[in-house]
Amino acid sequence: MDKLNIVITGHVDHGKSTFIGRLLYETKSIPEAKLEEIISTCKGLGRELEFAYLLDAFKEEVEGQLTIDTTQVVFRTPRREYVVIDTPGHKEFLKNMVTGASYAEAAILIISAKDGIEEQTKRHAYILQFFGIKQIIIVINKMDNVGYSKDVFDALCRKADSLLSRFGIVPMQMIPISAKIGDNIAQKSKNMPWYEGPAVLAVLDNCKKNEFEHDFRMPIQDIYNIDGMKAAVGRVYSGSVNVAENVTVFPAGLNAGISSIRVFEGQRKYALTGENIALILNKALDLKRGDVICAKCAPVVKNTFSAIVLCLEGRLAGDLGYTFQIATQVVSCRITKFEERINIETLENGSCDFLEEAQLGRVKLAADSDLVFETFDKLQELGRFVLRRKESVVGVGIII
Ligand code: GDP
Repeated sequence: MDKLNIVITGHVDHGKSTFIGRLLYETKSIPEAKLEEIISTCKGLGRELEFAYLLDAFKEEVEGQLTIDTTQVVFRTPRREYVVIDTPGHKEFLKNMVTGASYAEAAILIISAKDGIEEQTKRHAYILQFFGIKQIIIVINKMDNVGYSKDVFDALCRKADSLLSRFGIVPMQMIPISAKIGDNIAQKSKNMPWYEGPAVLAVLDNCKKNEFEHDFRMPIQDIYNIDGMKAAVGRVYSGSVNVAENVTVFPAGLNAGISSIRVFEGQRKYALTGENIALILNKALDLKRGDVICAKCAPVVKNTFSAIVLCLEGRLAGDLGYTFQIATQVVSCRITKFEERINIETLENGSCDFLEEAQLGRVKLAADSDLVFETFDKLQELGRFVLRRKESVVGVGIII
């Protein structure tokens, strides 16, 4: 089943937990018994069902099953599965994004109709544009609190539009909702007949995945000698390949056919994503660790690129040299331009000409020789990297 990673952000108290709880409820992602337990607890306390409790209950449920990452809240529509990246704070969220641990493909920004746009709303919008997240849905929550007023909604949409356009963001949709009542979440609400657009789940189902063609990519880890023949050993990062298929070895761009595929158990006619294999080619090419064997479309082969980098230690500056590692490729590189920075502790942003610990920057890098890569949104494993200086890891990043 198709899976989409989404992030849901909003100023504290604008209704994020209630909204996520409501999404879990509407998509029947909370076990029936748990739901009944919560309803009876709320009744016992003489309170209405609080949808924010559903989120906590879901987390408890998931924490019981140790195999699942506790930071992931999952719900399903008939169309696909959604993974809500629910990190404890901005710092974790930004770290996860830049290491690729959980990269959001779409975002929902919640604004309370009662309170309007606040400082945190602006910061969240800034972060979304920083990472280049293009699919952004704005939900104006607590519409029940403002009498479902079209005028309030229209005025907030105008304000949100002018804020977002400063960041070059064009929202996919602005939706008036009530997370508490359930208006315009799974179905169109009768309380707001003036709203002609779709409900939240319909817009989410329309979001696109970052589709990559899944062409074959295998970075060479090592060269072995198998039965007197040179074999390139590595893990298949994407796609599949068959015996007799033509491949190209990058960065040199040398062509050959596949004469044999070996896996741990023996010979094979094909190899799939995620498998560790040995490839024997029908030509004696000069193969080495770091080369990437590809089929179909060519990867990007360049020595300059744009990236988002998180400084982990000391200071990242333009006058220092770094060792850059992406997949099995290791080269020397320099940061040639600093474009923007965010401090992940304080969320302050601005221009810069170096990065210090806990700062995130959009930069340009130049390597000493050509690298084989894909942008991170296309193929994560060939789009994320580590920067070292004198053996210590001083930064991590993604190619954009
Ligand atoms: P968070 O801090 O953004 O996670 O916000 P919560 O989900 O905890 O909600 C903050 C408060 O707003 C709680 O008292 C909720 O019951 C209330 N709230 C959330 N959504 C709505 C809504 O759609 N309508 C109304 N009237 N109250 C809401």
